[in-house]
Amino acid sequence: MADTPIDVIPEPKLLRKDAAPSRIVHPKLNQARTKIIATVGPACESVEILTELVHHGVDIFRINAAHGTQADYSRVLGKIKQVREITGFQVGVLLDLAGPKIRLGALADGPMDVVPGEEFTFIRGNVTTDPHHLVGTYPKLIDELQIGDRVLLADGTISMQAIEKTKDSVKCKILIGGTIRSRQGINLPGTTLSVPAMQSEDIENAKWAAQNEIDFVSMSFVRTAQDVFSLKNLLASWECNALVVAKIEKREALDALEAIVDATDAVMVARGDLGVEIDVAETPVAQKRIINVCRDKLKPVIVATQMLESMHHNRRPTRAEASDVANAILDGADACMLSGETAIGEYPIDAVDTMNRIMLHTEQLFKDQPQSSKVKVFDRVHPITSAVTHSAASIAETIDAKLVVIASHTGGTAWVKAKQRNYIPTLGVSDSPAILRRMCLFWGIMPHGVEKLGDPQSLFDEVSAWGCKTGILSPGDRVVYVTGTGLLDNAHNLLVVHQVPKIV
Ligand code: PGA
Ligand code: MN
Repeated sequence: MADTPIDVIPEPKLLRKDAAPSRIVHPKLNQARTKIIATVGPACESVEILTELVHHGVDIFRINAAHGTQADYSRVLGKIKQVREITGFQVGVLLDLAGPKIRLGALADGPMDVVPGEEFTFIRGNVTTDPHHLVGTYPKLIDELQIGDRVLLADGTISMQAIEKTKDSVKCKILIGGTIRSRQGINLPGTTLSVPAMQSEDIENAKWAAQNEIDFVSMSFVRTAQDVFSLKNLLASWECNALVVAKIEKREALDALEAIVDATDAVMVARGDLGVEIDVAETPVAQKRIINVCRDKLKPVIVATQMLESMHHNRRPTRAEASDVANAILDGADACMLSGETAIGEYPIDAVDTMNRIMLHTEQLFKDQPQSSKVKVFDRVHPITSAVTHSAASIAETIDAKLVVIASHTGGTAWVKAKQRNYIPTLGVSDSPAILRRMCLFWGIMPHGVEKLGDPQSLFDEVSAWGCKTGILSPGDRVVYVTGTGLLDNAHNLLVVHQVPKIV
């Protein structure tokens, strides 16, 4: 038994295929402990800007499968691989599956300004020639919409209500007006849809992820734990090690939250759609609840959407946005995500830099809390791993150690340490690039690659040499190591306090 049990962090199955790092991966110093996910898009797609984004704090790049083709994703991935070579940092990649997002089809006469009281009719089929007829991309829309249901367009800015239904049509009345455009997203907050969790293009894209060693695959519009299992089973059938991220953006997902969090590897608070599917006034409390459930169940959680929204067009965020990032961290988020800010905004590098700086300042608050009050023993973790990570933190505090080093085969032990939220710098050491990239989601864990996880002494020597070279360690400094006896085959049962020797 190595690391934590598999219900917390799945065991990787493909280590044998996992090539050795092309060069030694060293952690980025002076970077926030909370992880940053940046969405790739036209504003940042060059190797130069992607490299800058990593230098300014990005840990994981998101490829949004709601846009583009697999040829586009492959092109972006090729650039990300170049960035890994240039920076020596194994930046992770998240492929975000679009899921059952329902959209309007083409409008008969192009965009329309609509006002309250106007009536429009959804009809079957893909085309319409009447400007007052609407078609959607979901064939069963007419069957599943009920009188009284609300239909929202354009991120919820336009609101209609179903008022009349026939066999082949549903008439809706505009409650709040705006501009309707072709292909706008449709949200149906109160309607239970029988649409499958994964569309055929999601399945194709998941396969692409499996074939391309993608680290994280997220699923949009999750409703039940079963939805999550459908993706997990598919990935498992391809022997894919990617961690599954369930996006919570529907009321149904909030209703089944505990089971979904049990089923998934990680969670995203997808506030964009969530704020349309439920009252936006409810989202701050929903965010806190989702994060708390993830903390209890020991799952990484990402807070997403509109974190620095105004930075699409400004170099500086609003005060409210700065507070939003800080509060997400204080709620317990493991990572924060940028969407349009980096994908299509004018200032992608400033957005990442700003987020990183807010994080660094906010995380100072963790420093002032005594470790003992924060350290938590998790029921679901192997008792040895739990006790050892717990003790590593308190020993490190007692002896004023400079660094905790966790040699982790699956990343599981590093993950347990991450959820304990100790401020002490922590290296997650592995000889597998895939595991180093997985650690990119783990709060406060700096992924550190070694050629081979051999005996503990060579690990001490290597970390001491690296630490002294980078200035993070000096001779005489204490370092707490969490390893296994033999490292690879045993539980994490070895806790060593090592002092950096005079000459390394
Ligand atoms: P999206 O998901 O950007 O893919 O819609 C995030 C959200 O809804 O917040
Ligand atoms: Mn969404």
